[in-house]
Amino acid sequence: MTTKPPSGERTRLLADAVVPAGGTAEIIYRAAIDIGGDGRIEAVGAVDDLGDTFDGTVRAVGGLLMPGLVNSHAHTPMILMRSAGDGLSLQRWLTEAVWPREAKLSPDDVWWGQTLGSIEMLRAGVTTTLENYFHEETILDAALTTGQRVMAAGGILSAVAPENADFSRRVGEVADVFDRLHQRVDRGYVAFSPHSAYDHSPERLAEVADAARERGALVAIHLEETQAERELVIGQHGRSATQILSDSGMLDGAVIAAHGVWLDETDMAVLGNARAAIAHCPQSNGKLGSGIANVPALLSAGLTVGLGTDGPASNDSLSLWDELRLAPLFARARTANPEALDAATALDLATRQGARAMGLDDVGELRPGAWADIIRLDLDQPAFTPGLPGELFGHVIWAASAEHVTDVWVAGEHVVAEGEVTTVDRHVAQQEVAERALRLL
Ligand SMILES: [Zn+2]
Repeated sequence: MTTKPPSGERTRLLADAVVPAGGTAEIIYRAAIDIGGDGRIEAVGAVDDLGDTFDGTVRAVGGLLMPGLVNSHAHTPMILMRSAGDGLSLQRWLTEAVWPREAKLSPDDVWWGQTLGSIEMLRAGVTTTLENYFHEETILDAALTTGQRVMAAGGILSAVAPENADFSRRVGEVADVFDRLHQRVDRGYVAFSPHSAYDHSPERLAEVADAARERGALVAIHLEETQAERELVIGQHGRSATQILSDSGMLDGAVIAAHGVWLDETDMAVLGNARAAIAHCPQSNGKLGSGIANVPALLSAGLTVGLGTDGPASNDSLSLWDELRLAPLFARARTANPEALDAATALDLATRQGARAMGLDDVGELRPGAWADIIRLDLDQPAFTPGLPGELFGHVIWAASAEHVTDVWVAGEHVVAEGEVTTVDRHVAQQEVAERALRLL
């Protein structure tokens, strides 16, 4: 389970333009990014400011460089079930289309599914992903083989833990993987992923919360995806899922909750006070007809918000460019307010906030000390024309897409060159996934 070790060599990338981070629409023209031999950024700025002497390899790559995108909620091996059960409600989709195929998955299936998904993400410029799935060690191994940065959140489902003893054993398994591998492999992180408050009892959630808090581990969970789920939990427990998470002690540690579509104001205040994060998955929520999360209200309540694709069976693509555009579109449409979410904030959600939501403070922006997770867009395209000063940033958010990403570096390693992954054979991975998907059907 390894990525390529840092080259030890310093590299300067010269570009026509650099967007150093989201949050502002700043663009630095005629810019350089200096990468240290350890894979971290040493300097970012205009060549005129940095000086044109550099002790290391200089590569004039041109184009526009920006931070790699961060997918803060995925179940990537579900690529083996891409487009299954289209048009079904969440509950029917899970029980009729997804779970019967998932039950037949072998660790090798998961490995190939993750490998192909990581290839798809890297080619789209998604350099970091948070994976919620079982076989977490296999997920780490597959994603790291492609060179992607990955947090494997070990999935804990009641379906595979009918007895409390099974549940405790599964929590122990994830804890063991965390203890052995979290930040002990380059670019690899581990977290806990209990499915939801409608899948697990409050007592079970408290057990996961304890195991995570003891280790300073992140808990990734689903929360308020559909209205039916909200009503089910309140009917069963007399309180909202958010209140259950709070009462279980889970919010005393780091938590990223996917969706948050049906949270009310009280829930948002509780989550905001706990400094919790939401993984906003607008495309998946749209496809499954779950609703539209109130992202402006979440941000006002003090939550950190990242963007997620969710699984490729409910999206059906792993390109976060769709979410980058849908987040502000949905926010503006929901509130009938064009100022509800601006383009610079949308990029912030797709990069820096997504990383913060995962507990990573050295990912998602191009600044000294951060990991050199960088993507290059080819500006020689209709989508970036006319590219007027002050308007090129808008092209990046509203007109760009995955196919404009030509090159990708993760921790300074050049993992996508001229649109193709350099680390693994994409065609072999496609063939493997196609054959395995047929067996699962
Ligand atoms: Zn999900």
